[in-house]
Amino acid sequence: MKEESSDDKEIIKEYTFKTWSKQKGWDPIIVTYAKGVYFYDKNGKKYLDFSSQFVNVNLGYGNEKVISSIKEQLDKLQYINPSFGADVRARASRSLLKVMPKGITKFFFSTSGTEANEAAIKITRLYKKPNYKILARYRSYHGSTESSISLTGDYRRWFVEPHTMPGVVRIPEPYCFRCPLKLKYPDCGIACANYVDYVIKQEKHVAGIIIEPITGTNGVIVPPKEYMPLIRKIAKENDILFIADEVMTGWGRVGEWFAVNLWNIEPDILTTAKGASASYVPIGITGFKKEIGEYFEENVFAHGHTFEAHPVSLAAIPAVIEEYERLNILSHVRIMGDYLGKRLMELKERHKSVGDVRGVGLFWAMELVKDNNNTPFGGYEDKYDGKITLVDTLAKKLMEKGVYVYNGPSWFIIAPPLVINKEEIDQGVNALDEILNEADKEFAG
Ligand code: PLP
Repeated sequence: MKEESSDDKEIIKEYTFKTWSKQKGWDPIIVTYAKGVYFYDKNGKKYLDFSSQFVNVNLGYGNEKVISSIKEQLDKLQYINPSFGADVRARASRSLLKVMPKGITKFFFSTSGTEANEAAIKITRLYKKPNYKILARYRSYHGSTESSISLTGDYRRWFVEPHTMPGVVRIPEPYCFRCPLKLKYPDCGIACANYVDYVIKQEKHVAGIIIEPITGTNGVIVPPKEYMPLIRKIAKENDILFIADEVMTGWGRVGEWFAVNLWNIEPDILTTAKGASASYVPIGITGFKKEIGEYFEENVFAHGHTFEAHPVSLAAIPAVIEEYERLNILSHVRIMGDYLGKRLMELKERHKSVGDVRGVGLFWAMELVKDNNNTPFGGYEDKYDGKITLVDTLAKKLMEKGVYVYNGPSWFIIAPPLVINKEEIDQGVNALDEILNEADKEFAG
């Protein structure tokens, strides 16, 4: 095996940024190839992708059907400005109508989850004028630009404060492992959801509420079964728009096309990205219910981008949906998800440093703790200061073992490509099993 040339690495480090991070000490692995659920570095070392990168490479790597669809579009029409109607835009819309939650029938196409949320907020405010306030949760991530970072509740928002968008009102999340209201489910009566009604009434000019149906990067927080239907009901009763941010939870990740299907609820607006193209090309989608679409018949839809509805990005959508269907991805995810969940629960039994394991479908978090009081190994303050937590160090060691797992300050996010099989799951779980011994040594109590 030949030595990895340092040239590419040096150029990348010298001339580009590692995002959300101090630059010092960055040691990027140079990836050159990927297939199935594995990617390979310059030396040919193989890594299991146990998190679909940032929970986005839903079909794994090298799917021929998706690649051909994109290539065919490139041969035919590479770009046309969005005021024209490329045929691929009709094909993508038809495919979306088959899978979107009931009622979502009008689409705005962008190139990221961030942009999908920016559009959702701007349109919510135009539609609900003069109401403008948006409710969002503390443990949330909605993107990195002006509105979306302001909606974001986690530490990533702190970097831009006080320059955040006015009109965001914060509400608590259903994080039962560390309840923000210090209550216990089910005795809590879902106080975190009921409180939203009070907030809306006190704030008065509320236009909408944005929620990740299952919180993603902030630790795969699966709400109690009553929570989402209750939030939906409260939004409806108070006549505010309910925006489901399904950037991470959409496209089969939870064993349904979209997470809102888990509770049979219909959002007014749904934002998504990542799995919509299985990440072969950049795409963001903001889906609206009919009434919102109709409002803009006589009112200016004051939004848009040069790369909006890009034909090459749109070409991925019908191909990806066909592949999800051909591979029976929803039932595969349910079966593999049960298996993965069972195996992760075994690790919880075996390792005292595992405080909580939670998830649904192929979307799981394992939260590590350092004592019997469930004290985390690291928190938002550490991330804000650019500190390396124990979980960061363990994730690095997993990479050395050939397993990539995306992590937060005190949790791993285990969300492999939806095409994963049992043997591949075992490989990832076994690597986690070994590495958790190191966390156990740090456990006091
Ligand atoms: N919303 C959620 C729930 C996300 O998880 C993310 C990214 O991880 C975003 C929005 C932002 O998407 P993007 O990184 O494509 O801009």
